[in-house]
Amino acid sequence: AAKRAGGNTYALFESHMNAGAARQLALQSDLRHARARGQLSLHYQPKFDGERSQIRGVEALMRWKHPDHGNVPPNVFIPMAERFGLIKELGDWVIDEACRQMRAWDEQGMRMRVAINLSVHQLRQEDLVDRVQSALGRHEIEASRLLCEITESIAMEDIEVTQRAFEGLRRIGVFLSIDDFGTGYSSLSYLRKLPAQQLKIDRSFIQDLETSRDARAIVDAVVKLAHALDLKVVAEGVETEGQRDILLALQCDELQGYLFARPMPASDLLDWASGHNPVSDVDFSP
Ligand code: C2E
Ligand code: MG
Ligand code: MG
Ligand code: MG
Repeated sequence: AAKRAGGNTYALFESHMNAGAARQLALQSDLRHARARGQLSLHYQPKFDGERSQIRGVEALMRWKHPDHGNVPPNVFIPMAERFGLIKELGDWVIDEACRQMRAWDEQGMRMRVAINLSVHQLRQEDLVDRVQSALGRHEIEASRLLCEITESIAMEDIEVTQRAFEGLRRIGVFLSIDDFGTGYSSLSYLRKLPAQQLKIDRSFIQDLETSRDARAIVDAVVKLAHALDLKVVAEGVETEGQRDILLALQCDELQGYLFARPMPASDLLDWASGHNPVSDVDFSP
């Protein structure tokens, strides 16, 4: 009986697996055409200075609207794109689209600084710096208005690759941020090797700020460490006023999260920003 039950369980499991695999395969092939079919877009989430009086810039987050499945989360399609060799194409599109959008906002009177997320495969691209530089040139955007975010765990995976990419990007004037900081395992000596200007503390620490003394101590230490290394600190995933107040007390430089704004389409950002703060003359130094 046990055997039969096991068999049934397996059959059930297998059919699930097949459904999963088939769906994955279909999604993967759809992703291949997503850009050409105009299903990709960037949403933009503002980052505020400590006092929340000004927008410091926005982070571009990729969105894929699938015709049948609706919005597929980046946590699903980005790893898929990485596995199937599509991330370079998508990544190039993000670089170009972010620059194009900055230019479009310029023409509408909003001078914005944009952060994009880079994947490990992009860091390994020999011509990443050329690609970034040519996108900036194509849309006539100064390099200092572009910030590249690289997740800490990715950055530390191959420190030499990261170092080379960072140095190349820094050489042309692009700013660099280490994303999801605290979730990887960077040794401080590695951190010193990277010419980054910003650390972004991972949401998991921000989430626990009000309830956990440990989380608070970690954030406090990260801010102090970052400042001692001349890095600015951003907190991501700020959702409550309590978290905001603690972060301000701990001297965090920039805040980002649903408390202030969710990621939104480019067209909404213009309305949203004009309803909030003047952003025409933001200081673009990180
Ligand atoms: P990330 O770069 O750490 O981006 C922050 C994520 O947290 C975003 O999720 C954002 O929508 C979400 N978020 C922002 N504020 C809050 C908040 O207050 N509460 C909560 N619960 N979440 C908040 P999203 O857009 O789903 O992106 C997930 C991840 O996918 C990003 O994490 C990034 O690693 C990756 N990703 C997104 N766009 C791109 C891209 O263009 N290229 C690459 N390589 N990766 C991307
Ligand atoms: Mg990011
Ligand atoms: Mg992050
Ligand atoms: Mg994150």
